Amino acid sequence: MTVVLPGGTIGVLGSGQLGRMLALAARRMGYRVHVFSPERHSPTGQVADLEIAAPYGDLTAVRQFAAQVDVITLEFENVPAETAVAAAEMTPLRPGPGILHIAQNRRREKRFLAQVGLPVTPFAPVNNRRDLATALDKIGCPAILKTAASGYDGKGQVRLDKPEQAAAAWEAINREEAVLEQFLAFEREVSVVVARGLDGRTAHYGVIENDHQNHILDISRAPAAVEPETAARAVELATAVAEAFQLVGVLCVEFFLMGDGRLFINEIAPRPHNSGHLTIDACLTSQFEQQLRAVCGLPLGDTTQLRPAAMANLLGNLWQAGEPDWLTLFSFPDVKLHLYGKLTPRPGRKMGHLTAVAETIETAVAQVSAARAALPGSER
Ligand code: AMP
Repeated sequence: MTVVLPGGTIGVLGSGQLGRMLALAARRMGYRVHVFSPERHSPTGQVADLEIAAPYGDLTAVRQFAAQVDVITLEFENVPAETAVAAAEMTPLRPGPGILHIAQNRRREKRFLAQVGLPVTPFAPVNNRRDLATALDKIGCPAILKTAASGYDGKGQVRLDKPEQAAAAWEAINREEAVLEQFLAFEREVSVVVARGLDGRTAHYGVIENDHQNHILDISRAPAAVEPETAARAVELATAVAEAFQLVGVLCVEFFLMGDGRLFINEIAPRPHNSGHLTIDACLTSQFEQQLRAVCGLPLGDTTQLRPAAMANLLGNLWQAGEPDWLTLFSFPDVKLHLYGKLTPRPGRKMGHLTAVAETIETAVAQVSAARAALPGSER
C-alpha cells in the first residue's frame, strides 16, 4: 500500500479545469504536481510544477512521466486504454484502468451497472439499423439514441418521438456503436459525489440537485430538496457503484429522479464532477482535496457542508462581447469566482463558475443567478 505524503509528486492525466482544481488543492497541501496531456498552457499546466505536452499515444513520453511521479490520477476519463495501462505498469494509477475502460463506453457502463443490480435507464444496444428497429420495439418512444463512446453534455444524442425517425437518427449519430435509451419523464436530475479510499472507507457529499440548459449543467444546489429516504437511497446507490468498481478516488453518479421517488442512474464519472464544485466553498473537505487524499492513500477528509450552497457555470457565451465585466461581479460580496484559465472562449465551453453559500438554498441560488445575470452577454 503506497501512501504518498506532502512533498510527494502527483501525476495528473488530462489538463482541464478538474485537474487545475485538484492541483490547487495539492499544492496548498505541499505536494508537487506534474500534468500530462496534448495541450500546452492548459488550465492544469498553468498551476502545475511541470506540464508535459505530448499525445496520449506517445507511450515513451507516458512512461517518462509515470517514472517521475509517486501516484497518478486522472481528470479526464477518455484517456486511451493503452495510455492508462502503460502508466499503471510503472506507477500506481488511481482509479485504475479497469473502471476507465468501463466508464469510457455507455454500453459497457450500463451493462456493468445492470449486472451488479443497480437501476439504470432501460436501454438496448444498437450496432446497425436492424438493431435500432429491434431496440425501438423493446424500448418504445420517446427514446434517445446515444453514441456509446465519447459523448458528453448531450453530444452524440438524438431524440426519437416516433419509429419513423429511426433512419434519420441513425445517420445523425454517424452510424456509430450506440445505445437506445427510454426517454424518462423525470422530475429532477440529482447527483452524488462519493469518495473511496485505499483502505476501502467511503465518504459522500449528500445529494446535489442539477439544472441543465441545452444539455449542459447550468446550476447546482446542495443539499437537494429531496425526501430523506430518497437522499439515503441515492447515497446508498452511489456508494454501491464505488464499491462495485473497488474505486480508489472520487466518483460522481448522476441520477434521474422520478415523481414517485424512483432513481435511475443516467451516467457515472470516475473523477470529481462539475456538480461537486460547490464543495470547494461549502464543505470542510472539497471533492478535489478528497480525490488527493484518496489517491495518496490518506484517510478521507470530513465532508460536512457548512452552509447551503449553489453553483452557476460560466460558459464561453459570456465572452462573446469580450472579457466579462468582472468589476460588476465583484460588487456581489457573497459570490466566489472560479476561472479556469482557458485561453479561447467558445459558446458552450466551461470557462469558470460562481459559488454562493448562504442561510438558505434559495438565497444561494438567487445570489449566483443575479451575479451571473449582471455580466453583459449573460442572456443566453
Ligand atoms: P447525458 O450526456 O447522457 O448526461 O445526457 C445529457 C442530458 O440529456 C441529461 O442530463 C438529461 O437532461 C437529458 N437526457 C439524457 N438521457 C435522457 C433520458 N433517457 N431521458 C430523459 N432525458 C435524458
